[in-house]
Amino acid sequence: MLMTEPYRKIPITQLSRAELEAVLVEWGERPFRVKQILKWVYEKRIESFEEMTDLDPSLREALAANYSLGEMELVRRQGSEDTTQKLLFRLSDKRLIECVLIPASIAFDGERSDRQTLCVSSQVGCAYDCKFCASGLAGFTRNLTSSEIVEQVMQTEALSGKRVNNLVFMGMGEPLANLTNLLRATEIINEPWGIGIGARHLTVSTSGLAPQIMKLADQPLQLRLAVSLHGATDEVRDRIMPVNRKYPLERLFEALRYYREKKKQRITFEYILIEDVNDALEQARVLAERAKLVNAKVNLIPYNTVDGLPWKRPSEAHQDAFLAVLKKAGCVATLRREKGHDIEAACGQLRLREEAKLTDPSPQSS
Ligand code: SF4
Repeated sequence: MLMTEPYRKIPITQLSRAELEAVLVEWGERPFRVKQILKWVYEKRIESFEEMTDLDPSLREALAANYSLGEMELVRRQGSEDTTQKLLFRLSDKRLIECVLIPASIAFDGERSDRQTLCVSSQVGCAYDCKFCASGLAGFTRNLTSSEIVEQVMQTEALSGKRVNNLVFMGMGEPLANLTNLLRATEIINEPWGIGIGARHLTVSTSGLAPQIMKLADQPLQLRLAVSLHGATDEVRDRIMPVNRKYPLERLFEALRYYREKKKQRITFEYILIEDVNDALEQARVLAERAKLVNAKVNLIPYNTVDGLPWKRPSEAHQDAFLAVLKKAGCVATLRREKGHDIEAACGQLRLREEAKLTDPSPQSS
């Protein structure tokens, strides 16, 4: 007997405003209905098309027959209200992704803020194989759709009861390797008719895909850019980030200069401090010079152990010495050592553990 795939409805969050309007026009509806529908979806966050009480029943039925209001399901939540929380979601094809919610009481960017920060994933797994990262361990599976990116924000807000007002594309995956869907998602996340997070509070974190950085610079949205640098010389970066062999520092900095010229905003360098790998004080001196070239701010993050990886974090005294070299050289730098970040720097770990449990019947702790 021939087995057919069950018909899968399109998540309504997959559609831009213009696309939704075009659908309505095709159905013979008046274009202003789009405003009503968007209000129900993004402002009122309804769970069923039935709740769209100011629409004709026939339109509600047509929407329900063709679209869904969300597909992701929460599998696990780690952490509590006032600490960093990890949320693990199952997608419609059973793949797992995670995002991390950092409450306003914990400074995300080395600075105190009143912002609820969410780190979202952009891919299932990652192809870039950075040697210190849990997400790269299981390899790349697929890009997330734009609605899967948008839904991470909506679901997290629904689960936490709080509005996310700072979003970082820094979870699992390389966001710039999924640029088309990333840009579709950021439109919905940014627009006042959508989730409404200001572009200044949307940060894209990349491992250094130079051509895509230039493409991002050509986009009208003023997104903030963070670069996972983690090495100040090609020699160090080549060892821990294979992407550097394709886009070495000279090529990366050409793209960063272009980004800076176009966007006129400060870039952030993320730098995970790993003992005996990239924490030599000479690296700090080169890093300071590089940061000053593009007026970047440096965020130092002491490494958090990842199951299955050999790296360690340097002592606190050495972390302080590294920071002091940067500051002495006139570089804007912070060291993110606050309690609550342990869970966050090890992106991809929750998913790896959960997948191990799904495939291994022996009991494991989480
Ligand atoms: S650090 Fe980012 S780019 Fe590198 S393997 Fe991990 S998720 Fe991928």
